[in-house]
Amino acid sequence: MRERDDCDLVVVGHGAAGLAAALSAAEAKPGARIALIERTDETQAGGGTRWSPSNMRLRSVDETAPDFVADMLACGEQTDREYYERLAEEAPAAAAWAQGHGVAFHAPGYYLSSGPPRIQPVGGGAAIVAALARAAREAGVEFHYGLRAESLLRGPGGSAGGVRVERGDGNALALRARAVVLASGGFQGNPQMLREHLGPSAERLRPISPGSAWNTGEGIRMALEFGALRAGDWSGMHSEPVDARTRASAPVVLVYPYGIVVDRAGRRLFDEGAGLMHETWEHYSRQIHFAAAGRKAWVVLDARLQSIEGWQRAVRSELPPIVADTPQALAAITGIDPDGLAATLAAYNAACTGDPAGFDPSCADGLATAPELAPRKSNWACALATPPYYAWPIEGAIAYTFGGLATDTEARVLGREGPIPGLYAAGEITGHFHRSAPNAVAVLRALVYGRIAGRAAIARAAH
Ligand SMILES: Cc1cc2nc3c(=O)[nH]c(=O)nc-3n(C[C@H](O)[C@H](O)[C@H](O)COP(=O)(O)OP(=O)(O)OC[C@H]3O[C@@H](n4cnc5c(N)ncnc54)[C@H](O)[C@@H]3O)c2cc1C
Repeated sequence: MRERDDCDLVVVGHGAAGLAAALSAAEAKPGARIALIERTDETQAGGGTRWSPSNMRLRSVDETAPDFVADMLACGEQTDREYYERLAEEAPAAAAWAQGHGVAFHAPGYYLSSGPPRIQPVGGGAAIVAALARAAREAGVEFHYGLRAESLLRGPGGSAGGVRVERGDGNALALRARAVVLASGGFQGNPQMLREHLGPSAERLRPISPGSAWNTGEGIRMALEFGALRAGDWSGMHSEPVDARTRASAPVVLVYPYGIVVDRAGRRLFDEGAGLMHETWEHYSRQIHFAAAGRKAWVVLDARLQSIEGWQRAVRSELPPIVADTPQALAAITGIDPDGLAATLAAYNAACTGDPAGFDPSCADGLATAPELAPRKSNWACALATPPYYAWPIEGAIAYTFGGLATDTEARVLGREGPIPGLYAAGEITGHFHRSAPNAVAVLRALVYGRIAGRAAIARAAH
């Protein structure tokens, strides 16, 4: 690339959203000059998508899960209805399109409890990145690695007229274009922004995967400086409970609903059975990070764990659990206060008055503790009294942030006067998540709105 260069469209980011945008633009206008800018080298490109299992809330490649829009609005805002309606409408076409480019899908059943139907690419998000990058290259998209987008260039009439990028050697390049798609993710990799928007100690949140570190909110900052409006919950994030002993990518521990979760003092922190795992994991991992001493907790279970068919698929750590024959021995190995743990287990076991024959890990089984126990456990409450005892130390790890850019259903970035001409955004960089992340939707929206952004941006560039 030269120090000044011109193209029709520049796309920032090599994840699901950026690749979908670049490829669909190239398909819509063969021969157009489309440049995709990525800050990492080729081996690391792909952001969160690359490390994500990429579960998608679809019944099959050609059918969305039932109640899709209502479910989205239940964890979002009514103002986003049109955004989710279009997402639901185009989700099957986006999945089929990815399939047409070589992404195979299956439904491996990652969670133990029931929930909305989900499908997953074979090979996870890395398969999406590989397939769409290959197809985009074949369609003529130019890939530029090791270039960090730094600011937006102004075009005629206040439009986005390209991107100023920085090379690893510190030199800057001006890449002029008739339209820009920003798809550079959230700000989970930016400790200052995390602290500013999520509060003290947010800067110490562990990134769930190596890809998270690259998303430092630069695309968001660039667009805000250009007059874009903010949207989404800026203090919101999706986090998950992971094994604190390993630095591997996403070593989630998702068996906590079937046991108890205690802090270092041996005290329970919350109602472990308040809902299905995917309804509670985000809130609980956040609570562990912000409220538990040392930002750490332990999941404690007993021999009943082995009766849960396939429990191993809900633990993605390469390390085995800590195992002991008595709670005292478990406390000695983990460092949990032994008296605190003994007292908690005694109170908890006494409150497990339901018939353990009703224990059913696959659904909310209603097996609750007696109401006087605080915190109560609403489902799967069975005494933990049969050795061996198992424990995993867990901490909250951040997957992505919710705060981002305001966009409309054409993926246009909105400013005070309406859509900013020539500026589009898709994926995690956009702010459409609020109270909690709708389960298995982030990759789907990156694909759907990435395609919408790519088609709309190249249509504008062509005129
Ligand atoms: C471990 C994990 C598990 C997940 N599981 C699921 C799941 O099962 N289902 C689901 O729907 N979602 C899941 N998610 C979330 C989902 O994967 C992401 O939200 C989604 O893939 C984001 O796609 P994106 O294209 O918007 O951003 P990304 O895939 O993060 O891509 C952003 C790209 O932009 C690049 N970039 C950043 N800044 C710049 C810059 N200044 N200049 C140039 N390039 C830049 C980055 O390097 C990166 O390549 C998970 C996420 C993680 C990390």
